Amino acid sequence: MVEEWLPLRDDFLDELLRFSGSEYLDGHNHVKCRICEEPATFRCADSCSSRRMYCKSCALARHADLPLHILEMWDGITFVKVDLRTLGAEVQLGHDGDPCPNPCQNTRRLVVVDIDGIHQVQVRFCECLDPNDTFALEWVQVFRQGWFPATTLKPATAATFRLLDFFQTGPLCQTLANLVASSAQPRSRSSRYNGHSPGELAVECPACPHPGKNLPDDWASAPDDVK
Ligand SMILES: [Zn+2]
Ligand SMILES: [Zn+2]
Ligand SMILES: [Zn+2]
Repeated sequence: MVEEWLPLRDDFLDELLRFSGSEYLDGHNHVKCRICEEPATFRCADSCSSRRMYCKSCALARHADLPLHILEMWDGITFVKVDLRTLGAEVQLGHDGDPCPNPCQNTRRLVVVDIDGIHQVQVRFCECLDPNDTFALEWVQVFRQGWFPATTLKPATAATFRLLDFFQTGPLCQTLANLVASSAQPRSRSSRYNGHSPGELAVECPACPHPGKNLPDDWASAPDDVK
């Protein structure tokens, strides 16, 4: 019954604000890393189940196997989103998370599209030789990471398998547009306190047909089989 929830509206909003802020920052914005006690400015904004804060190196270490997680960095005033690649994280391919004895000298930026948005990761390919004296092909290494490459030649874009599964079950286009919009915007859970009006924080999917934007002017008069 909705009446049971109505008296709790302010409590829930207070809890949301508490969740978006941090109980660990003191009045001088000082907080120690949960692990090493160095000054901490990072926390996970993704599906890690803790809101605790970490220094950069501990935050990176905790996300060694979670390359698509997005972090939040406290800049002294607010939390801003930052991806692991920006902090220097690399994904070593070919060894299921373990170090490679023969890593490629260069790394490559790979765009990985997942159900929660579009990520950029810096990948390093493996150049270990197999019994036939050849490397695993780049697209194979990306595929084995659980990322479906957009091309087999020098892949620079991939979609996660879970995105492809999701594609089969949901209204992907609109959902992705919303998720991309929300990952590009600071969270606005406190917007009730700042005030916002209907229509804000909306984004159109660029791949969907929008008359006047990405359709020919005479699209409506085209024959049905062309339309
Ligand atoms: Zn630390
Ligand atoms: Zn995380
Ligand atoms: Zn290797």
